Amino acid sequence: MWHCAGLCRKSYCMPPIPNHLDPLFANDGAMNPLEILKRVYGYAAFRGKQAAVVERVVSGGDAVVLFPTGAGKSLCFQIPALCRDGVGIVVSPLIALMRDQVEAMKQLGVRAAALNSSLTREEFTEVRRAIARDELDLLYVTPERIVTPAFKEMIGSAKIALFAIDEAHCVSQWGHDFRPEYRDLGHLAETYPGVPRLALTATADPHTREDIIDKLGLRGAEVFTTSFDRPNIAYEIVERDQPRQQLLRFLDRHKGSSGIVYCLSRAKVEDTSEWLNAQGVRSLAYHAGMDRSVRDANQDAFLKEEDLCLVATVAFGMGIDKPNVRYVAHLDLPGSVEAYYQETGRAGRDGLPSDAWMAYGMADVIQRGRMIDSGTSGDDIKRVERAKLNALLAICETPGCRRQSILAHFGESHGGQCGNCDTCLKPVETWDGTDAAIKALAAIYRTGERFGTGHLIDVLLGNENDKTTRFGHIAMPVFGAGKDIPSKTWQSVYRQLLAAGLISVDHEAFGALKLEPDARAVFKREREVRFRKDRPTTGKASRTASSSSAAAKSALQGSDQELFDALRAARMAIAKSLSVPPYVVFPDTTLVAFATERPTSRDALLGISGVGQSKLERYGEDFLKVIRAYKD
Ligand code: ADP
Ligand code: ZN
Repeated sequence: MWHCAGLCRKSYCMPPIPNHLDPLFANDGAMNPLEILKRVYGYAAFRGKQAAVVERVVSGGDAVVLFPTGAGKSLCFQIPALCRDGVGIVVSPLIALMRDQVEAMKQLGVRAAALNSSLTREEFTEVRRAIARDELDLLYVTPERIVTPAFKEMIGSAKIALFAIDEAHCVSQWGHDFRPEYRDLGHLAETYPGVPRLALTATADPHTREDIIDKLGLRGAEVFTTSFDRPNIAYEIVERDQPRQQLLRFLDRHKGSSGIVYCLSRAKVEDTSEWLNAQGVRSLAYHAGMDRSVRDANQDAFLKEEDLCLVATVAFGMGIDKPNVRYVAHLDLPGSVEAYYQETGRAGRDGLPSDAWMAYGMADVIQRGRMIDSGTSGDDIKRVERAKLNALLAICETPGCRRQSILAHFGESHGGQCGNCDTCLKPVETWDGTDAAIKALAAIYRTGERFGTGHLIDVLLGNENDKTTRFGHIAMPVFGAGKDIPSKTWQSVYRQLLAAGLISVDHEAFGALKLEPDARAVFKREREVRFRKDRPTTGKASRTASSSSAAAKSALQGSDQELFDALRAARMAIAKSLSVPPYVVFPDTTLVAFATERPTSRDALLGISGVGQSKLERYGEDFLKVIRAYKD
């Protein structure tokens, strides 16, 4: 391999960081995790339960780590891998992302490599040699490869520091990312006895948790959990009215930053992306039906660029560790609270203010329900899926704090009034809907529980049309009984009755609404019903939830903002020259600290969170130059 003595900054060309690991050894020869955290990562202290996990694994124990996205799971296996003898093996499901993960580690001066089908024979031999010589700290491997005899043979007698199973929820059939090959990882304990194992995920539901422990053979592992709250994410859910215009107004709040727009179908992904480009919003599409090379190129562009809207199906997102995704928008309702939480959770990994926005309507509920019913799962699973969908619907329709409802779903109590969701920022009014509920239920009952919302609303409003005439509904007392309430409000009434479990959708009967047993008490006026008042959805962009880009900017004022922009440009130039995403060089949080604290010496730079020894050597001078020039 040709070396240019460091000018190109590729890790194999950089001079070795002078003894960067030596001082990390304590007197007894053991590595000190806190020293590694400071010198390699440039962080002052462990967060939350990171230290406890690290201690557990360094001492040889197994761990299950259930932290939300952005909590810092990676350090939980990276640091023990550096502390313990041998190579740390990381099971990661996506080849396309391994390269960036490895590059990010190399930037920190850590000796990392990936083993996957994209390697040339020479690269493969090089990795094999590095393992044999104990010259690797971390090795990223796919789940299908790690269980093969060829892999075992390649490891030979080399020492293994640990196994880290990332995205461990892939083992569970309950989740939406089920990967059958994860099942075989349960055998790692027998094949490699005595090697500590960690399973890590940001999925919080108990079914998945149980599956991870069971299927991966982690009964003896210590389970580490933290709060699943993502306080920097602002939740907002709006009634779908003119979805494209609503989306455009939302994106208007995020000019200059990157985010994801989720759609249910591939066709809608393509149409929406095309339409956004025509509206002047730079956008790319991503779905599983696209040509692999185009899909990978679009993903790569999303990771590397800072002003791009990626319109995608849920095929996109797992393992994406871009920290500055500023928003996640849903144009269609996800299938469950778990999916909603997981997808919105891709925003704001860096802890800076970010927005989760969704537009939804009754049609989603019908469509999702139909997908469940026409699926191939057994009846038990279908029942669970329907319950999960209803739980999400209840969150959409709650007049209370969204965060409180989301966390309650995961068994966590939160006092509400979070101050960072649409219902907290602009409390929803409620109205006594008992009379309206009785009329809405009566329309279902009188017409024989055979019709969907559109027709029922026609009946309530007294619309004489082909269908209401043909079925003789115009002669019923309920016909026209709801004239005093507009059609949109009736839509909302039916959604809320559904969310409250008073009615259900019969998907086999093309979305007909049916009464549930609890409806009886409403009919008899034994139960009062309160509805949330829908907000007007047209007009100027609603400013209910905090606008995150505005919030992030307001943290930086005047000349700080100018310096930040200059630093961002310098970062982009370096990232381009290395063809890595900018955050691999430094995250936004570090640049914000550069802009506000304005360090002008190497020592001062080292005092900034995110600047370790290796990055100081690589980029210190570049950024100091920008900061000093600004001071002058
Ligand atoms: P997760 O995998 O849990 O989603 P990451 O491991 O990607 O989270 O960490 C999220 C961000 O927080 C990263 O930019 C990471 O470098 C940073 N981070 C993690 N631990 C710490 C810490 N102890 N101090 C400061 N920053 C941290
Ligand atoms: Zn709230």
